Formats: sequence, structure tokens, C-alpha cells
Amino acid sequence: MFNIAIDGHVGCGKSTLAKGLAQKLGFKVFDTGAVYRSLACAFKAKKYNEINETNIHNFVNSINVQVEFRNDGQHVLVNGVDYISSIRLEEISMLSAKISPFIKLREKVIDIQRSFAKENNCIMEGRDIGTDVLPNADIKFFITASEEVRAMRRYVQIKDKPNSPSYEEILQDLRARDYADEHREVAPLKPANDSIILDTSDMTLEESINKCLEIINSVQIKRL
Ligand code: C5P
Repeated sequence: MFNIAIDGHVGCGKSTLAKGLAQKLGFKVFDTGAVYRSLACAFKAKKYNEINETNIHNFVNSINVQVEFRNDGQHVLVNGVDYISSIRLEEISMLSAKISPFIKLREKVIDIQRSFAKENNCIMEGRDIGTDVLPNADIKFFITASEEVRAMRRYVQIKDKPNSPSYEEILQDLRARDYADEHREVAPLKPANDSIILDTSDMTLEESINKCLEIINSVQIKRL
């Protein structure tokens, strides 16, 4: 199987880039953040009084996680419940960053990710794909862009929705989540030694897709 890892900061556009590449390559995309987000929804629904080792342990032992790929995209079912309509809420973004540092929870997600990559030509996107989940991925990209560019892209995307956060709130949220993701002990967000780092601050989506395709093609040609 051919596996492409895409990691990067909050709001750097890795999901959109992964989808664009997948379309051109005929690969599947695995959005690993959506799994952590769905687990955050399920954790919230259980109304634990605190986020701590014991509660996370009990939570992980009480859940069954299935990832399904349907015509309208990826769905994550936790004990049969699909939280798709809630996973993008700002509150869930922050909660997913708070529960994701726990090893017990990450192990559960990693098993699912690795089985998927073993059976599919795929683009897997997240935080620790190149470093931890798929250290032998065929190509690893680490995507970033300046904080201001990332916050502005997000602001433009959601500003007309009801109760949408301000530009300043989005900037604060992405700084807080980047900090949490980069400074956790387990699987911190960082480029793998063999990652190709792409700063998309001054690039359009199309330019980013083309740049990645160029690199992917050169790797595939070398293999032939
Ligand atoms: O990518 P996304 O913003 O949807 O991810 C939500 C959160 O899930 C991240 O802030 C991070 O804490 C966690 N995550 C992770 N490892 C991944 C993907 C996401 O820890 N591979």
C-alpha cells in the first residue's frame, strides 16, 4: 500500500489539501482529528466530573469505535453514535486537544489508524502520523502557515454563520491548541526527521496541491 502522512498545525488546511490530493490520486483520506473530536463528544456525553487518567481509562474501556467511509465522507461511530453534527463546534475542538494527550486513548485510535493504512492506499492526516502512527509512510508532509493567515482563513470560512467566533477568538484558540499539541509528552506535534515541510502562508490551495503532487510523482517514479 502507498501511505501519505500529512501532519500540521491547527487550521493549516491539511484536510482540504488531503481531500484535493486524494481526488487526484484516487486514494482514501483518513481524518484522524475527526476521531479525536468524536471521542471528545462521547466523553462529554458521559458527563465525567474531570479529565483525568482514571476517567479516561474507564471511558476508553467503555467504548467501541468504528470508522466508516460513506458517499458523503468519513463517519466515526462511538458505541454506535455518530457525532458528525457536533465535532466541529469550538468547544469540542478544545476538548479534543485536552483528551488527546492520554496514552490509553491514543493507543485506541492508533490501532484503528494502522489497520486502515495497512489495507488502503491512503492519505492520513493529523498531528503524529509521520512521527508515531506511520513512521514508515511513503511520503510525509508537514504543513504549516503563519498563525494570522490560518486564523484569517478560518474566520472567512465561518464569519457568516450564527454565533461564529471573532477573528481574535479564533487566533487565541489556535494558539492554545497548537501549544497543547506541541508541548504534550506523548506524540507531540512536530515534523518527522524525514518530513517535507510546506509553509502555505503565501500559497493558494491549488498551488499547495500541485506542489505536493509534484513531490508524490517524483517519489512514485523513483519506485518504478
Ligand atoms: O485536526 P483537528 O483540529 O481536527 O484535531 C483536533 C485535535 O485532536 C487536535 O487539536 C489534537 O489535539 C488532536 N489530534 C491528535 N492527533 C491526531 C489528530 C488530532 O492529537 N493525529
